Amino acid sequence: MYEFQCGSPVCKTHFTAPTEDELMGAVAKHVAVKHRIAAPSKSLVQFLKDNTIREIPTGKSG
Ligand SMILES: [Zn+2]
Repeated sequence: MYEFQCGSPVCKTHFTAPTEDELMGAVAKHVAVKHRIAAPSKSLVQFLKDNTIREIPTGKSG
């Protein structure tokens, strides 16, 4: 499980997804719609990965 918490001080968006790929897809949609960044640069994507998403341990094996 992966969690996104938007880093913008004026945006409290928070959501989760089962995989990092799905989460990044949702993040890309979020920044396009909410922050009007239709084509985030590689450095922005890297920044988002480093600063706004994290893996949540499920606590279960399997
Ligand atoms: Zn946001």
